[in-house]
Parts: sequence; C-alpha cells; structure tokens
Amino acid sequence: MTNSAPTSVAIRESGRMRRRQPDLDVERVRSEFPALRQQVNGKPLVYLDNAATALKPQSVIDAVVRAYSEDSANVHRGVHTLSQRATDAYEASRETVADFLGAASPAQVVFVRGTTEALNLVAQSFARPRLGPGDEVLVTGLEHHSNIVPWQLVCKQTGAQLAVAPITERGEVSIAAVQSRLSARTRIVAVAHASNALGTVLPVREICAAAHAVGAKVVVDGAQAAPHLPIDVTTIGCDFYAFSGHKVYGPTGVGVLYGRGDLLAAMAPYQGGGDMIESVSFESTRFKPPPHRFEAGTPHIAGAIGLAAAIDYVQGLGWEAMHRHETRLLSSATARLLGVPGLQIVGRAADKIGVLSFVLEGVHPHDLATIADLEGVAIRAGHHCAQPVMDRLGIVATARASFALYNTSADVEALHRAVLRAQEIFS
Ligand code: PMP
Repeated sequence: MTNSAPTSVAIRESGRMRRRQPDLDVERVRSEFPALRQQVNGKPLVYLDNAATALKPQSVIDAVVRAYSEDSANVHRGVHTLSQRATDAYEASRETVADFLGAASPAQVVFVRGTTEALNLVAQSFARPRLGPGDEVLVTGLEHHSNIVPWQLVCKQTGAQLAVAPITERGEVSIAAVQSRLSARTRIVAVAHASNALGTVLPVREICAAAHAVGAKVVVDGAQAAPHLPIDVTTIGCDFYAFSGHKVYGPTGVGVLYGRGDLLAAMAPYQGGGDMIESVSFESTRFKPPPHRFEAGTPHIAGAIGLAAAIDYVQGLGWEAMHRHETRLLSSATARLLGVPGLQIVGRAADKIGVLSFVLEGVHPHDLATIADLEGVAIRAGHHCAQPVMDRLGIVATARASFALYNTSADVEALHRAVLRAQEIFS
C-alpha cells in the first residue's frame, strides 16, 4: 500500500474539473456546519461517519426552514400563491439535480426517498415485467444490501437468477471479472459507483460499455459516489443512477432516481396514488408522463428543496478542491493507521473515495467505536450493510472512518489517538 491516496479516475476524466481550484478554506467550511460546534462526551465532536450520513450546512437547514415557514403548501395541486411557490421551488430543485447529474432533462429525475427506494423502483417497475426464467441480474461482490435484496426479490418474483462478479482481496472489481459473468442471459447489471464498506471506486463507464455490448441495462448505485465525485450520467453511459440526499449534505428522506428518458417512458409505476395520474375512473387510469408518474402521493417537498441547496453548496466549493482535500485526508489517515501495530486496512483499491475500513488485532470493531465515541470521535463499526463483502474477506466487521469536506488533519490525529487508546485499554 502506498501512502499517497489514489486519484479518482472519475475525477481525472471529468470535464468539469479542468481548472485548478484554490484549496478549500476548511475553517470557513466548518463554520457553516452547526453540528460541528458541539462537544460529545466532553470532547469537541470529530465526525468521521460521513459514509452513513453527512452533516448539513446552514444553507441547507435554512432552505428547509424557509420551505416550511414561507412556502408551506402542497405541490401541483393548488392555484393559490403558496402552492405555486412550493411547486416552482420543487420543480426548480429537479432542474438543479438534473444539472448535477449531467442529465439531458429534468424529466429524467425522479424524486424518491433515497437510494434504496430508487433501486427498488427500478427492480419493480423496470425489471419485473421484463425478467423471466433463464435471465440473469448481475451484481458485484461489494454491493450494499440495498443493491442486492431488491434484485433477489425480483429474481424470486420472475424466476431470474442473481449472478455475482467477484471482488479481489484488495476489494477491487475488475472489468475482466464483470465481463466473465456477462452473457446473453444478462438483462440487468446493478453496480455501486463506490463502495461504502471499502471505499473502492468501480470502473462504471467500462462496466456500462461491457454490459451494453451484451444487451443488458445498467443501474448504478451512486449513494457513495455522489458526495465525492462529479457525476455525469451521459459520460458514464448508465441507464439508471440512484443517490441519497442525506449523504450529499442534504436532508434525509429524499433521494433521486435518474433514468434514461425512453426507459422511464416505457415503465409502469409500481406505486399508485394522487399526483401521478392524468385521469382516473373505475374502469381505467391514465398515468402522467415521467417523472411525475413515479411520484405517487405528496412528495418530500422540503427535502427536494433542501437537496437542491446542498447541491448548490458543494458545487459552490468545487469538486477539484473537495477531492484534493479528501484525498489528502485519506492519504494521511491511511499512513497514520498503518503505523499502528496489529492494525490492518480492509479495502486497498487503487481508486478510492475517503473511506477507511480497518480491523485492530484484539479489539472488536464495536469496542473500538465505543472507545472512540468516549473521545468524541464518531466512527462506524459493523458489516456496513455489506455482509457479503465481510464474508468474502473472512471477517465479521470492520471499524470505518469516512471523510467529508469539513474534516481536518486534526480529526485524523484524533482518530489515531482513539485507536491507540482502544489498543491500550484492551492490551
Ligand atoms: N448504497 C450504498 C453504497 C450505500 O452506502 C447506502 C447507504 N449506506 C445505500 C445504498 C442506501 O442508501 P439509503 O439508506 O440512503 O437509501
């Protein structure tokens, strides 16, 4: 393992990062996140659980408060001013998301509860009517349960089979591994853009090209990539892309499914209700065109507005500056933890986001996380909703520190101290 953190291929390839941006003003950034002003267990909070959910900047909190205090009405329903304002703000958020993803049109952006719901929507509305016995859905060995279980369900419903592209010991998925599992039977390939358990960035562009060559459609789980990498669904060439608002500094309970226009138009909704229909009678119902067809019921209006504010916030900081900052943190944390005797880093891919999973000899990850918490350091311990990854690597759990744009080298030092403290207690 080199101590220099890998440079993301996605970042290098992105046309959105041509000019070198000045370094992040991290102190200013930190001042914009009110949650960072608190002490935990008598120590200043060191928040390193960003892969689970990110803290929210004041601008997001303000946007949500404004949505409830000023434009607090339902969307697409009322002729009155408040409803029109809420509708305008909600639909403007869709445009912001479309731009964030490089989507050709806001009509390709469906607001959902999060990545989980987005993947279930594709499984039920797209895959279920199109799969049958003999067909295969291909996932990789490092998927989050959200990108496994919906496919298991739909395989059970249709008689299709789930196939798995294996991961290496370092936690990588090679294009050759994917290709070796692709065949004329493959209908859908569902892959993470980045792994929450190991940090690995997958070669999604190449995977899309290989999948399309056998006639399969590709669904990308972007939950972990969206906060760290500039996304361009057109360059990636995927058919569907999912992400969650709360991991990209936005509200919980809102997320996005991007879908290719022709595919969304050919899909029936899997949830019915208000706001998704053109007309209803007891004999038949006509659905609205996408995206509203897939947004039955009152959506998370304030959530979508808050998500747009979060996107404005990260885009205002600039991807290159954020990525450089997070890469440095990953690099220094990797070097620091590798110096701890008995500590092993789990997930050593060449291309990683700022996720550092590790195990420490003689200390269970849960104990480690509990001791870290006493030091004010929030890290995650467990299987990270990726049990097959743990099984493959022959472990039951890891401790995981995950970095965001407001973390500092002082946070890395606090993590290092907490690990040493845990080791001292258990020795
Ligand atoms: N996929 C990945 C890679 C994730 O990290 C997560 C969240 N941990 C999810 C899917 C599910 O996201 P959510 O819980 O926001 O639906």
